[in-house]
Amino acid sequence: MSEVLKPDLCVIGAGSGGLSVAAAAAQLGVAVVLIEKHKMGGDCLNYGCVPSKALLAAGKRAHIMRHTKSFGVTPTSPVINPAAVRDHVRGVIAAIEPNDSVERFTGLGVHVIQAAARFMDKRTMVAGDYEIRPRRFVIATGSSPAIPPIPGIDQTPFFTNETIFENARRMEHLVIIGGGPIGLEMAQAHMRLGSRVTVLEALKSFAKDDPELAEPVLRKLREEGIVIREGVRVERLEEIDEGVRAVVSDGGETGVVDGSHMLLATGRKPNVEGLDLEAAGIRFDQHGIKVGKNLKTSNRRSWAIGDVIGGPQFTHIANYHAGIVIRQALFRLPVKAKHDMIPWVTFTDPELAHVGLIEDEARKKHGKINVLRWPYAENDRAQTERATEGFVKVVTTKRGRILGATITGEHAGELIQMWALAIAVGLKIKAMTSFISPYPTLSEINKRAAYTYYLPSLTNPLVRRAIKMLAKLG
Ligand code: NAD
Repeated sequence: MSEVLKPDLCVIGAGSGGLSVAAAAAQLGVAVVLIEKHKMGGDCLNYGCVPSKALLAAGKRAHIMRHTKSFGVTPTSPVINPAAVRDHVRGVIAAIEPNDSVERFTGLGVHVIQAAARFMDKRTMVAGDYEIRPRRFVIATGSSPAIPPIPGIDQTPFFTNETIFENARRMEHLVIIGGGPIGLEMAQAHMRLGSRVTVLEALKSFAKDDPELAEPVLRKLREEGIVIREGVRVERLEEIDEGVRAVVSDGGETGVVDGSHMLLATGRKPNVEGLDLEAAGIRFDQHGIKVGKNLKTSNRRSWAIGDVIGGPQFTHIANYHAGIVIRQALFRLPVKAKHDMIPWVTFTDPELAHVGLIEDEARKKHGKINVLRWPYAENDRAQTERATEGFVKVVTTKRGRILGATITGEHAGELIQMWALAIAVGLKIKAMTSFISPYPTLSEINKRAAYTYYLPSLTNPLVRRAIKMLAKLG
C-alpha cells in the first residue's frame, strides 16, 4: 500500500525551476513535495551551464597562456591534461551541489522523493511508494538533447551535453553538429584545450541573435581555427576505424567530414515522457506543455515552468517562472509571464549578450527607431586589457524608450545587466546617461552608447546658435 501525501504543492523536477519553487514555498512555511528521478540540480548544474562555463574557463586559461606577448610576457604552450580538466569540471559541480542537495531541501522542510513521477488522474500523482494529492502541481521537468533522425545515427557513437563533460581523453578532432549556443561554446572550449574542431550547421549559426553582433564572434572563432560550415546538410553518419564520419551535402556537392569524436548540439526536446500528462488532462505537443500567460496548463491545478514549456530555454527563465508561480500559488496574485525582456548570453570569447528586441524586430514593431552603437576600442579599460574588439548596440524608440540591447565583447554578459534593468523597469535612454560611471571600467561603454542618442541635437544649428548667444551674455 502506498502512503498518501497531501501537501500544498507537488513540484516535479529538481532543476533550476523546480528547486526555486520548492525552496521559496518551504521557506514561507508551505508543505512541499519535490520529486526528482535523476540528479538534483538538473541540467544546469550537471550537464549545462555549470560544467560548460567551467570547461570554457579552462580553455580560456590555456588561450591566455598562448597569447601574452602583447603584454610583454613570454607566451607558452600549455600542457593540457584532459583528465585533470574533467576533474576541474567535476570539482566545480561538487562545490555548487550542496545548494541543490536532498539534504539542503530536506533541511528546509521539503519532502524530497527520489523516484519517477506519473499522473494517475487530474488530482493524483504517483512516485515510488507515494501517492500525492496536492492542492497544486508544478511541472518543471526540463528538456533533453533532441537527437535528429539522421540515417546511421543509431550505429554512430556521439556525445551530447549530458555525456561530453565526463570525457577524460584527448579528442583529436571533434565534429559538432549544430551551431547554436551549445555547439559554439563547446567548439571554442575544445579548440582551446587542444582539439581540432569542425562545426556543421544546417542553417545559420547564432540564428537567434542580431547578425551584426553574431558575425564578429563567428569571425573570432574562425580565427582561432574552428571550422564553421553553415548551410550544410548531414546526410548520413557512420562509425569508422578512426572515429566517426559525417557524409554531408554542401551547396549541391557531397563530401565527408571525419572526426575522432562527435557532439550533437541540435536543440532540445521537452521532458514529458512517462509523466502520463494525458491522465491529468494536460495538453502538450512536441514543443512542450501548453500554458497560458500565467503558466497554468490545461489542468487548472497545475502550472508548468522552464524548459518543459518550450520557448526560450534558460536557467534564469525557469527561475523567473518560479517567481511567477509562487506569487500565484501562495499569494493568489494574478501575475503573468512577460517574455519580451529576457536577457541571454552565449559565453564564447568574445561573449554575445542580448536583451529585449533586436533591430529587425524593433523596426517591425515600432517603425522608426534609433540605433545607438559604441565600440570597445573607444574605451580606455578595454585598451588596457587589450580587449578592444566588440561593441554595444542599443535600439530605442524615437523618443528614447529603450527597446533592446546587444553586446559582443569582453564581459558582455556583465555589461548587459544595466540594459536588462532599464528594459524591465521601462527606463528611457536619458537615465543611462544620468549616473557617474567609475573610470576606467568597461561599463562606461554603455553610457557612451547612450550619449550617442543626443549627438544629432548637438550638431543641430539651432542648439549651436543658442550656445553662442548664451556665451555672449558673459
Ligand atoms: P539551438 O536550437 O539554439 O541550436 C541548435 C542548432 O542546431 C540550430 O542552429 C539548428 O539549425 C542546428 N541543427 C539542428 N539539426 C541539425 C542537423 N541535423 N544538422 C546540422 N545542424 C542542425 O540549440 P542548442 O545550441 O542545442 O541549445 C539548446 C538550448 O539551450 C537553447 O535554447 C539555448 O538558447 C540554450 N543554451 C543557452 C546557453 C547560454 O545561455 N549560454 C548555452 C547553451 C544553451
